[in-house]
Amino acid sequence: MPTPRTRVVREADRGVYDRESVYRILDAAFLCHVGFTVDGQPFVIPTSYGRKDANLYIHGSAASRMLRQMKDGVPVCVTVTLLDGLVLARSVFNHSMNYRSVVILGQASLVDDPQEKLEALRTLAEHILPGRWNDARQPNDRELKATSVLRLPIEEFSAKVRTGPPIDDEEDYSFPTWAGVIPLEMKAGEPIADRKSDPRLDPACEIPLYAKLYSRKP
Ligand SMILES: Cc1cc2nc3c(=O)[nH]c(=O)nc-3n(C[C@H](O)[C@H](O)[C@H](O)COP(=O)(O)OP(=O)(O)OC[C@H]3O[C@@H](n4cnc5c(N)ncnc54)[C@H](O)[C@@H]3O)c2cc1C
Repeated sequence: MPTPRTRVVREADRGVYDRESVYRILDAAFLCHVGFTVDGQPFVIPTSYGRKDANLYIHGSAASRMLRQMKDGVPVCVTVTLLDGLVLARSVFNHSMNYRSVVILGQASLVDDPQEKLEALRTLAEHILPGRWNDARQPNDRELKATSVLRLPIEEFSAKVRTGPPIDDEEDYSFPTWAGVIPLEMKAGEPIADRKSDPRLDPACEIPLYAKLYSRKP
């Protein structure tokens, strides 16, 4: 159930609070925005994430302000948005978007156990591109030292989901303009097979199946 801080107020019927639905949205996306304040100034920083069970993992340079602030236990707000369509109503006022979004509030902590850190990095990599971790060189000690990994428990959260057609005021349904939905989706292109993609690619290296078949469809 939502807390007083995570209850969706407007269009409350679009609020979703069950863990499985929230996980489905988190697993379909891999970009989030991390919000925090420093000396009264809010910052909202885009970054990638991975999820394992009830934890969200975020990584980055140990020197990054976002990571430094987060590991000091400041309150954070992490937002994930999937845009599914533009909703064109007859009135300008009733235009909308179809979307699935998640907001998580909480405090992150630094993952300092080396085993959990490596596992969290694997989770992050596999969340974005399943199959890649085992195919690439594993991180060495220097790289691990330069990387901070943070764990945010998924405890206080909400999702909001809009689907379906435009909703116009009754008197506007006779207004003579097109109305409907323009679907939007994130689509992977064909991997670029020639050396324009990477001039130093060994021509003997074949494009792996996980790259050829890459898709973000849930
Ligand atoms: C792609 C997209 C486009 C949008 N465009 C607009 C727009 O143009 N104008 C506009 O007013 N709103 C827009 N929204 C909706 C917006 O995100 C808020 O839901 C809206 O401002 C109403 O918030 P509130 O006052 O009900 O809640 P608030 O008081 O702002 O928030 C209370 C709590 O509700 C939860 N919550 C609120 N919104 C969301 C959400 N989207 N996802 C998950 N949890 C949420 C959070 O836990 C939050 O702490 C858009 C949303 C998305 C995803």
